[in-house]
Amino acid sequence: CGIFGIYGAGYENISSSIYYGLTALQHRGQESAGIAAERDGKMRFHKKMGLVREVFDESILDKMEGDVAIGHVRYSTSGESYEINAQPLVVNYRKQSIALAHNGNLINAKSLREELEEKGSIFQTSTDSEVIAYLMARNYRMGLKEAVKATAGQIEGAFALLIICEGKLIGVRDPNGLRPLSVGVMEGGEYVLSSESCAFDLVGARFLRDVLPGEMVIIDENGLESVVYDKRDTKSLCSFEFVYFARPDSVIDGKSVYMSRIEAGRILAKEHPAVADIVMAVPDSGSVAALGYSQESGIPYAQGLIKNKYLGRTFIQPNQKLREQAVKLKLSVVKEVVKGRSVVLVDDSIVRGTTSARIVAMLKDAGAREIHFRVSSPPVTHSCYFGIDTPDERQLVGAVHSLESVKEIIGVDSLGYISPGGLMESIGMDRSGLCGACFSGNYPMEVPSSGGEFLFE
Ligand code: 5GP
Ligand code: SF4
Ligand code: MG
Repeated sequence: CGIFGIYGAGYENISSSIYYGLTALQHRGQESAGIAAERDGKMRFHKKMGLVREVFDESILDKMEGDVAIGHVRYSTSGESYEINAQPLVVNYRKQSIALAHNGNLINAKSLREELEEKGSIFQTSTDSEVIAYLMARNYRMGLKEAVKATAGQIEGAFALLIICEGKLIGVRDPNGLRPLSVGVMEGGEYVLSSESCAFDLVGARFLRDVLPGEMVIIDENGLESVVYDKRDTKSLCSFEFVYFARPDSVIDGKSVYMSRIEAGRILAKEHPAVADIVMAVPDSGSVAALGYSQESGIPYAQGLIKNKYLGRTFIQPNQKLREQAVKLKLSVVKEVVKGRSVVLVDDSIVRGTTSARIVAMLKDAGAREIHFRVSSPPVTHSCYFGIDTPDERQLVGAVHSLESVKEIIGVDSLGYISPGGLMESIGMDRSGLCGACFSGNYPMEVPSSGGEFLFE
């Protein structure tokens, strides 16, 4: 998911600015979009299934005035793609409204929910985010700051949160820093919080800093107050943000996503060289790494696959059937580029192997002589519990099959993945800063076995 918020008393068109911010974060989720804005204690919100531009128009945005506002684009990880699960979630509590937007996934949502249900809470959605909202309401008697601290201490997993409460904008990042969250500032001094820094430019904000793992920021008319609610030495930023999820023009925790992908491509070329005529990418996710591969190897870069720009990311489609359909709709081959050529084909990841196999078949049909598949992340062997949609382990081709048989399954002449060390080097962080559990099985916290706890979102 993607989250975006602005605090700016008297700010005109706050919801339009959130709209632009969400548009820049659209790659983080395409199922639903929503905005909540508050002024004078009145919370207005609008959310629906669809892309940001489909959900909002000028007349809706004009009605949503606010001194503070947050927005959300949703990408659901375990089904449940319903309108009721769209965010921000707005709950009314003791004559006031709390709005909440969440990126990430909790691993103890089920048990927390059961506890709350025993105490009489009735849930309306199937999201972890509602659990967080209820905990906030329960803890609220401690006062706002303490309530957020207590809530952040009760939930486990990945969370970057934006909350509107008492007319303030609150941002929280989980103690492992699994999901990114950064702070920007506008010319008029208004603060902006965004999943990714790529959204700042569009609203005229400049990047200030990242919210730290275990930090909450409270923004109101007095400015920005930082509270570190959990201090630990290790951080586990999701390495898949660099591999795939984030936009290349973002900088996360001081590291450029674009540069890390170039570097990954270069390292890949050193680790798995190939003799070939051209280097090609599977667009868009493999494009930057392919460029790096080409630069390092000296093999010319060519665009032999064309992507239909008007479709969403295939894997964000909620089920396998839709996903399979989408591959053909999405990519086509430029025959003149590939015919008779030996091709290095670079992609960011192999997950199920189905998309890759289809693309390879398309290239062979178009007359490619040889295909040397290069992947800018190590084999995905474990499920993610922290908000990226990796399927059940039995469906992960890299978990079930050896390198040699993956090569057979996708039908290529050679196959090479970047090493785990190479990936870390490309990002410029090591094990103490990154999560790479889907490649290694070393989760940054204890995860539920066989998906027992993993019910929501
Ligand atoms: P595959 O060959 O594993 O079916 O698909 C690999 C390609 O699709 C890569 O370009 C990757 O970006 C994307 N992809 C497909 N399915 C998933 C998924 O479930 N999770 C993630 N993270 N990426 C996927
Ligand atoms: Fe990211 Fe993989 Fe860790 Fe999930 S398991 S947070 S996808 S690195
Ligand atoms: Mg892709």
